[in-house]
Amino acid sequence: MGERILLPWLERDDAFDLEAYLRAGGYETARTVLRTMAPADVIAAVERSGLRGKGGAGFPTGRKWAFIPKDAPVKYLVVNGDEAEPCTFKDHRLLERAPHLLLEGMVLAAFAVGIRKAYVYVRREGYLARRRLEQAVAEAYAHGVLGRRIFGTDVDLDVVVHTGAGAYIAGEETALLESLEGRRAMPRARPPYPAVVGLYGQPTVINNVETLCHVPAILRLGPEAYARLGPPALFSVSGHVRRPGLYELPLGTPLRELIFEHAGGLRPGRRFKAAFPGGSSSALLTEAHLDVPLDYEPLRQVGSMLGSASQIVLDDSACIVRVIARTVEFYMEESCGKCTPCREGTVWLAQVFERLLHGRGRMADLDLLQHISDGMTGACFCPLGESVPPSLNASLRHFRHEYEYHIRTGRCDVEERLAAPRVAAS
Ligand code: SF4
Repeated sequence: MGERILLPWLERDDAFDLEAYLRAGGYETARTVLRTMAPADVIAAVERSGLRGKGGAGFPTGRKWAFIPKDAPVKYLVVNGDEAEPCTFKDHRLLERAPHLLLEGMVLAAFAVGIRKAYVYVRREGYLARRRLEQAVAEAYAHGVLGRRIFGTDVDLDVVVHTGAGAYIAGEETALLESLEGRRAMPRARPPYPAVVGLYGQPTVINNVETLCHVPAILRLGPEAYARLGPPALFSVSGHVRRPGLYELPLGTPLRELIFEHAGGLRPGRRFKAAFPGGSSSALLTEAHLDVPLDYEPLRQVGSMLGSASQIVLDDSACIVRVIARTVEFYMEESCGKCTPCREGTVWLAQVFERLLHGRGRMADLDLLQHISDGMTGACFCPLGESVPPSLNASLRHFRHEYEYHIRTGRCDVEERLAAPRVAAS
């Protein structure tokens, strides 16, 4: 399947089916590893591969597995398949198209850490993803890939698919545990971390869907060969590009290459304006950042982040004030209300944006936005509240003139430019 790891599975329209997955070599890696490797060697291989969590935090996966106390009698694997970040769709696509790949990754993770019970948390709206996953779990049990004595070894694993009601905060790992235990999804204080006190108070590994889907390839190719591929990552690309979709490229691919070579560039006659490189919680990048490598450290150096690697691309038809207003509105709606900076800060910001967008803004509002944003930074209980300041601050820094135009004129310069009749060149 070439040098791409996940995309070949996504491009097939039959890989959700066990027979097709087996014909393509599926579960062979798990069979070999369970029969020939020691759990500690599997953890060491994943550490050497450089695999980092693909859900947003980017924590090294092997190190996370190694944190779990070896002698704990009960421990759990929880797969975070909630994926509620706006414009991020890779995990749902993996669940729809390659649920057995996830199950194979889960078997390997559970073997490495000594886990016998796993939960996959998916949201209700992902109807096809849930149905395909449930079908794959049933097939895997029937085939001896899940349940007792997997592949004839002494390894056992039970998998439960849990459907969440749909709340952005449920994607935060401790809020997800609360939800799994039957309570309202609100984050827990850390420490203790889930690796020590997680689901039902037991040590718990929480991994994202895409993260686990990489594990079979790491063990099949070997960690060094896998690392030499980039390492590879799935980028969700949406917004004003000609070919939105999923692209599997090495980490470090420049934003310019992703947009203009792979995603087909912008719509005819349009100029690049800005992009969120890691979902709506990452700081906006501008034209000056087009050559920044899409990787953890380079993006951190320019004040942004990779997050879930979902690129939201905006051309010059986008009004930045309106874009950030919608982002703030989203986080306001999804705030769980537990802590004041997020609960009150997002509402206050939304009220200021309401004024700006309806021609009632005043210049002092720009300082007020910055003041509220500064008050939220580092003060929120969980990452949801901390998601608002980066893009807001970047918009005030790079597109202040758009805010000022709204305030001075009560109108939107982008809308006016788009509405203006084009003058034919004489
Ligand atoms: S930051 Fe927001 S979502 Fe997180 S705990 Fe506080 S109120 Fe809830």
